[in-house]
Amino acid sequence: MGKPSIDHLRERAYGAVITADDSAYDEARKVHNAMIDRRPAVIVRCANAGDVITAVDFARENGLDLAVRGGGHCVPGFGTCDDGVVADLSAMRSVRVDPGSRTARAEGGATWADVNAATYAFGLATTGGIISTTGVGGLTLGGGIGYLSRGLGLSCDNLVSADVVTADGRFLVASEKEYDDLFWALRGGGGNFGVVTSFRFRLSPVRDIYGGPIFYDLEDARGVLHAYREVIADAPEQLGAFPAFQIAPPLPFIPPERHGRVHVATVTCWAGPLEEGERALRPFRDMAPVVAEHVGPMPYPALNTAFDGLVPPGLQHYWKANFVTELTDGAVAAHLEHAPGLPAVNSTVHIYPIDGACHRVPADATAFAYRDASFATVIAGMWPDPAANEANIAWVRDYYRDLAPLSEEGGYVNFMAGDDQGRIRANYKGNYDRLVEVKRAYDPGNLFHLNQNITP
Ligand SMILES: Cc1cc2nc3c(=O)[nH]c(=O)nc-3n(C[C@H](O)[C@H](O)[C@H](O)COP(=O)(O)OP(=O)(O)OC[C@H]3O[C@@H](n4cnc5c(N)ncnc54)[C@H](O)[C@@H]3O)c2cc1C
Repeated sequence: MGKPSIDHLRERAYGAVITADDSAYDEARKVHNAMIDRRPAVIVRCANAGDVITAVDFARENGLDLAVRGGGHCVPGFGTCDDGVVADLSAMRSVRVDPGSRTARAEGGATWADVNAATYAFGLATTGGIISTTGVGGLTLGGGIGYLSRGLGLSCDNLVSADVVTADGRFLVASEKEYDDLFWALRGGGGNFGVVTSFRFRLSPVRDIYGGPIFYDLEDARGVLHAYREVIADAPEQLGAFPAFQIAPPLPFIPPERHGRVHVATVTCWAGPLEEGERALRPFRDMAPVVAEHVGPMPYPALNTAFDGLVPPGLQHYWKANFVTELTDGAVAAHLEHAPGLPAVNSTVHIYPIDGACHRVPADATAFAYRDASFATVIAGMWPDPAANEANIAWVRDYYRDLAPLSEEGGYVNFMAGDDQGRIRANYKGNYDRLVEVKRAYDPGNLFHLNQNITP
């Protein structure tokens, strides 16, 4: 690609057009996973939907790969590429709340911190991820699991409409009423169908919550997991809570002798009336002797930012994931075998409940197919030192190898690795063929192929 065509792109785009000749290039090409080190030909830091159209047209017309970057958190690094075009939405982060219709519009590069900060003052929220720096874009398009999903459904279940730039450069507003096939596919099908420049979400009353992490001794892990699966099955839907394996970080609420040791924990979020929080969490305090906890009333955005410090930019990431319909004794045994070997304080294993409002959406009503799953498990390997890549990746793979036969074939696309492309059909089960049809209708040339790819 010659200089004249980059000059032409610069004339057309309002946002910055960044190439290897620019001092901003090395910073601009970074994504959250530091293991990903790619060198795009050009990064278009889109300022608006018009710039997105310009970037999409430029990639298609020049036969270049196109990567779309929302929050940049995707573990396999689909938000960047070598030698192609990056449509970088990180400057498109505004959020506008309409309290009358109880909806919010978030631009395609917004993070959950942006959304929660905007909605909190209105006493409203929607399901987002548990870390505030994760992008609304990738998370919602893959499904969206978080503290509020038992009560409010997945993030994609709260999507009312989406502004989309398609592969041919058209701008469409997709909803249940218009382009309903595209709208169906966007809710779980990932970034396969176009660039979403704006998401419109339904909001629900949530302001302050009662919750936080509770740590128990690793010796009690079997009892905690067995108790958890009983408790969560009957718990009110305003209770978001998941078990985790975690090395205790050196935080003031954790006794110093526990720092650096692997623990089992539960992370809780009661979004019902605050005065009922203490009672709602009592079963969690009874699961085993509590060795440390940081639980209490707090603004929802405070819980959403509480663990950001454990996952700063610049770590190496390698993740694996599965759904389970039941957390069987066998699966618990596999966790007990591998979790004690957690190699880094940043790494974690989470078992998120998929139930309540998530189960009330029929499996074929959105692209997210695993409505019969009870839990989404993620083995999230995250560590600072590239020299330790081999050992950390091996820990994730060994863990996954023993858990996979005790799990469903498919997993949650947003928790998967780059080497999981062979599992795409399984991830979508009965919805896969319809996803292929929608892909053929909106992206027959597979311009949007840097994702867990549904091939036309
Ligand atoms: C620290 C951390 C915590 C996480 N916590 C959660 C969690 O609690 N719940 C959960 O469900 N997931 C969670 N995830 C997984 C997360 O959903 C995925 O990593 C997701 O891909 C992140 O989206 P992003 O926009 O930040 O990423 P990006 O890397 O920017 O994008 C990911 C994919 O989505 C596409 N994409 C992004 N934005 C758009 C857009 N506007 N239009 C079209 N395509 C787009 C990209 O092309 C790419 O294929 C977490 C990930 C990390 C690293």
